Amino acid sequence: MSDDRPVPPEPAFSLATPYRDATCGELRAGDAGRTVQLAGWVHRRRDHGQLIFLDLRDRYGITQVVVDAQESPVAHAVANRTRNEFVLEIKGEVARRMAGKENEELLTGEVELRGREVEILSEAQTPPFYINEPDAPVDESLRLRYRYLDIRRRPLLERLLLRSELVRAIRDAHHKAGFVEIETPILLKSTPEGARDFIVPSRLQPGSVYALPQSPQQLKQLLMVAGIDRYFQIARCFRDEDLRGDRQPEFTQLDLEMSFVTEERVMEFVEAMIIEVSRATTPDRPIQEIPFPRFTYEEALERFGSDKPDLRFGMELVDLAPALREGTTGFRVFDETLAAGGRVKAVTAPGMADATRSQIDELTQFARRHGAKGLAHVAVAADGTGHSPIAKFLGEERVAAIVAAAAARPGDLILIVADPSRELVAEVLGRLRGELGLRLGLAEPGVLAYCWVHRFPMYQWDTERGRWDATHNPFSGVVPEDEALLVTASGDPYEPSRQDPAGKARAMQYDVALNGWELGGGSVRIHRRELLERSFALQGYSLEQMHERFGGILEAFDFGAPPHGGIAIGIDRWSALLAYQTNIREVMAFPKTQSGTDLMMQAPSQPDPEQFAELGLRFVGIRPEHVAES
Ligand code: ASP
Repeated sequence: MSDDRPVPPEPAFSLATPYRDATCGELRAGDAGRTVQLAGWVHRRRDHGQLIFLDLRDRYGITQVVVDAQESPVAHAVANRTRNEFVLEIKGEVARRMAGKENEELLTGEVELRGREVEILSEAQTPPFYINEPDAPVDESLRLRYRYLDIRRRPLLERLLLRSELVRAIRDAHHKAGFVEIETPILLKSTPEGARDFIVPSRLQPGSVYALPQSPQQLKQLLMVAGIDRYFQIARCFRDEDLRGDRQPEFTQLDLEMSFVTEERVMEFVEAMIIEVSRATTPDRPIQEIPFPRFTYEEALERFGSDKPDLRFGMELVDLAPALREGTTGFRVFDETLAAGGRVKAVTAPGMADATRSQIDELTQFARRHGAKGLAHVAVAADGTGHSPIAKFLGEERVAAIVAAAAARPGDLILIVADPSRELVAEVLGRLRGELGLRLGLAEPGVLAYCWVHRFPMYQWDTERGRWDATHNPFSGVVPEDEALLVTASGDPYEPSRQDPAGKARAMQYDVALNGWELGGGSVRIHRRELLERSFALQGYSLEQMHERFGGILEAFDFGAPPHGGIAIGIDRWSALLAYQTNIREVMAFPKTQSGTDLMMQAPSQPDPEQFAELGLRFVGIRPEHVAES
């Protein structure tokens, strides 16, 4: 294991304690001759009979200790009893290692401690996995169950240290910009962000529950009404939804809100903050483009098939309609799609022209899994001509037109999706683009490619419930020129329908993406009660429900609300990306499994019957329809 980390500055509060004079990462050649005491865990133990070598480890590093039976027989006898992961206190004399015996991989590799006194502070069982082989693969459930042992291993420790630096840099940047850090309650009321709530029954008010916040959204807006002007928080959020690689039931957001701002002003601050924080946390990772590229939602979908495009590679989607347009193409799927006003679009995979049949089948399956009916392809030969199973329908000219439209080069593979739904074509090609970009190694791993996507539609139609759903946040504002669209076709604000002009309204919403992940999102909010009520009505709330759920914030808006807006950025995702991880569990000290279990603490667990009695609760069993629903 290489230990080439820079020597951290000596903390303001000395690391020396009654147990140690120095840490295990501290001693250098210049310390030779000093008598010092170290404390730490036995990382590795080598017994050479008269000499016992102990690598003593703590968070700061590893120091080699050698205990000589002749020089220190008592210490040697104690060292003889030690095993890996015992916690020891060792006093001895720092000595330069013999020439040729230095260990360049250790910060302390020029020296060793000649152990004179060894004391066992704590014994240890054989750990369930090797702590001293941090790269050895270990079953994840074992790592989660013994998380405290996993954290002893260098990789996870490094990631937690990086996360700590990230949060520190975030705090510094906000304090410098005049933000106030305010904690908002965890025991609260439903704050919808599109997931289910976790609820906590109240003992003092039997029959009532608190909901854990899905985000501090309403509270931060209330802080703007309160005149705080600039707020931020490293906020824990809770969402009861199905878990995926980048989701956990509880997670952390950098949550911020600003008063008297426009979209532009919020994005300006957030962009500067992200640059400052990235440079402070991972100075070695270049930011691809500053200012961050900005795309409207429409443009992002059209060009990348995603509202969180990975910009580390090109592979932009191409509309094939112009190349196919004249007359019928002879290929029924394309003709029918175009006639129905649908889309035929393509993405080009560089260098994949010689993909095998089974590789093409696999890509077709991939496309089908994301909703496509099929996947057509054209392979570009060395002479630049296109070859395709559908060439016999399209004719040579059209195939050549496709190659030209896709600007494909010899050796490239053009993948084509046709569908009446524009969104579906974007989704499938966007996923193919993302997947192939990574598989083909087109994404430079070290580069941080941040970008903005903004001007999302305000709402999307919820067919099942017959109402508009906020695409992001129920409090998002509408772009000023679209305000008149926030009406229903029927004229009755409480009767939304698919035909409503509201379907065309764009939100003052902006998302920030990093390397193909949505890092965060925010908006300038509605700050007028009348408009907010109109928006809630479109979202299917009756006046009564509105008051029941959002009465607090509606009332506050009667007392003078400044225009305001903000954003929330996922700290878990940000840390994961900065640490080259694809799963946020890898940057969380104590994450839960895919089924929401904490394997170490064994949570969730059966409630104590007495607790339940006090709360007036009883399990009545789980109704099958509820299981089916979730
Ligand atoms: N509350 C939003 C969220 O959690 C972020 C925001 O609009 O500020 O996604």
